[in-house]
Amino acid sequence: MQTIAQLALLGAACVQAVLGSHYPGLGLHNDDQSGLSLNGVPATTRTKWMRVANDHFPFGVAVVNTTSDELVCVAANKVGVTGNPSMHGEISGLHRCTQVLTERGLSPQEILAAWHDLTMYTTGEPCAMCASALRWAGMGEVVWATSIETIIKNGRNQIYLPSSMIVAASYSMPHQTHWFGSILANETDPHFFHQFNESAPCPGMCTRQKVAGSRVTMCVPDDEWKSEWKAREGEWEKQLMETKGAIAEEWYGVTGSGRKIRNRGHDEL
Ligand SMILES: [Zn+2]
Repeated sequence: MQTIAQLALLGAACVQAVLGSHYPGLGLHNDDQSGLSLNGVPATTRTKWMRVANDHFPFGVAVVNTTSDELVCVAANKVGVTGNPSMHGEISGLHRCTQVLTERGLSPQEILAAWHDLTMYTTGEPCAMCASALRWAGMGEVVWATSIETIIKNGRNQIYLPSSMIVAASYSMPHQTHWFGSILANETDPHFFHQFNESAPCPGMCTRQKVAGSRVTMCVPDDEWKSEWKAREGEWEKQLMETKGAIAEEWYGVTGSGRKIRNRGHDEL
């Protein structure tokens, strides 16, 4: 029979294996959480949707019908391309999904009710503005990946308030929101490391350069990356249109002609 101390050690080892083996100090790693579920939804489903959000890095969003596991809309931070400072990924997602649900024939009152059955996956922990908007919406679930702490530690401007404080202070709202953090952070974090942290290495085929209007040197794709991306992009879009058909336009902003109209990776300088 094992002693309490032995059991405690075994327990600690398991927690270590689950929580800390791949990325010290951060939350769950995808490979290690494959057998888990959050709020009755398998972790594999959680990571699948977070990867869709992460395709719109660094601040990407995917909104999913929690019950039917269907995508409603995707969005990215649009501050830089619209000039509207409130268009963080999450606000952009609320705008885009409202548009999609309106196009599907829902009335404003039906859209307001729909948020309670939806899950927003967002690559970054919602800031005070976005967390408040999501609580006003009564979003059924919010699943975020990279923490505000990590974002701040890597040099990006951010409001120093964890989203949990907004959630805690919104207790009088009529609809609850399940709030999960650090999901797939091991895959989203790198997108927040290199851009404003001058000591972080650049991703492959990028070099650190001065960029007009930026307060720090930034990782800029080199010519090899640009030509490779250009070569791949047409191929990728063609394949996407063939395999997903009309839904490709909804998901990725690919038009019927195969030209991608969505800008990706928008961010503030
Ligand atoms: Zn925000």
